[in-house]
Amino acid sequence: MKICTMCGLEKPVTEYHSKKRQPSGLSPACKACVSAKGREYYAKNADAVKGRAKAWREANLELDRERAKQKYEANPLVAKERAIRWASENQERRKEIAASSAERHREARNERQRVAGREFRRLNPAAAREEGRMRAALRRSREQDAGVNIDRSDWKALIDLFEVGTCIYCGTEGHKLTMDHWMPVSLGGKTEVGNLIPCCKPCNSRKSNMHPIDWMKKAGIHDNRGSGSITILEFLELTRDAVIDVKGMDTPLSKFKRKCVKAQYGFEVEVVK
Ligand SMILES: [Zn+2]
Ligand SMILES: [Zn+2]
Repeated sequence: MKICTMCGLEKPVTEYHSKKRQPSGLSPACKACVSAKGREYYAKNADAVKGRAKAWREANLELDRERAKQKYEANPLVAKERAIRWASENQERRKEIAASSAERHREARNERQRVAGREFRRLNPAAAREEGRMRAALRRSREQDAGVNIDRSDWKALIDLFEVGTCIYCGTEGHKLTMDHWMPVSLGGKTEVGNLIPCCKPCNSRKSNMHPIDWMKKAGIHDNRGSGSITILEFLELTRDAVIDVKGMDTPLSKFKRKCVKAQYGFEVEVVK
């Protein structure tokens, strides 16, 4: 037992940090008092402390990363818990960070996913077909969950009403018009008026499950006008807000893509048996 110089309480030696320079080999103040003092100092000097820490990290990028990794590996559960706690206490900030990081990496990530997807399909044609069936089934069930509120005859009536004879995206005439989800179902778009665009099959396939913004860039659509007799905006303005929360899928292809994306391009392609 040892008396703490700060709180004056007698505590077992395990309640003291070790300190080699002290004759006893222990810190004069107990752990609780030391950390309380630290908290008090931090409360008064948070900006200065953060600034110093940040400056150090920036000057020692490699070392900082290595230490963070060691710390995480020593106790991943604690690190995860801390991250979850931080996220739940800082929800607004967390959303901001996620949004800006998604924005920054979206184009590169999509490209990596496309490369990975092509490679997967080339090597695993049978698994890719199965994937297609699973996706179609999942999409149907999502549409059901989302309360699909349009059927084929509504759709036809809508096209007639607006006299849409050409593909809204490319202006091609004479193609049979297909139903495109402006916001793809995989990104939360619903099958309902306000999220559906009549377009030709080639445009529909090219657009695939692209985010509208990526698609506009790719197709060279700058002002939401498209090239047909009616603008995309006019068509969509009928109703709006069609976003549902969609959980990530777990199929061989999506796992493979995640892995490839994580590893940037340095992946070994594995063959699914
Ligand atoms: Zn104490
Ligand atoms: Zn088209």
